[in-house]
Amino acid sequence: MEINLAELKNGLKEELDLEIEEKIESLSCFGDHIPLIDPVVFRGKIYNVNGELYMDGFVESTGEFNCYRCLNKFHQKIMGEVHEKLMEEDASEDEMDDYFVIKNDKINISEIMENALTLALPMKIVCHEDCKGLCPVCGKNLNEEPCACEKDDIDPRLAKLRDLLQ
Ligand SMILES: [Zn+2]
Ligand SMILES: [Zn+2]
Repeated sequence: MEINLAELKNGLKEELDLEIEEKIESLSCFGDHIPLIDPVVFRGKIYNVNGELYMDGFVESTGEFNCYRCLNKFHQKIMGEVHEKLMEEDASEDEMDDYFVIKNDKINISEIMENALTLALPMKIVCHEDCKGLCPVCGKNLNEEPCACEKDDIDPRLAKLRDLLQ
């Protein structure tokens, strides 16, 4: 979705309030695709300060993740923020940030929303803070029920040492 900034740039408007809802299929992150199950919502504004345009706002959606401990699918809200200066396409190279470039008086807000959500993705995500994960021996999901495997809590690096001592 493109937002036309002509009126802001020529001073006809001081501020543009935005509330945008758009379907984005998924986010890509480190070669992974995180499906988005809710439309992406952006609430914020673009405003003119002494001829320069700035954008502030919040973006949110809900992603479908795989828990890295138990591998189960679960849904979690993703919330990102945007606080950026918008640059003209002809701005000098090092000032350029691909997502915040004004081309022909327009910006592509879909790219901005997608970028802000991607930046807000957690590195490692678990379904619950106390997720017990999978048993390393039998692979059973320990959140559902405990398994009958021998519990060996020794760190695998220390286990090697223990074997040597025996
Ligand atoms: Zn889990
Ligand atoms: Zn087990």
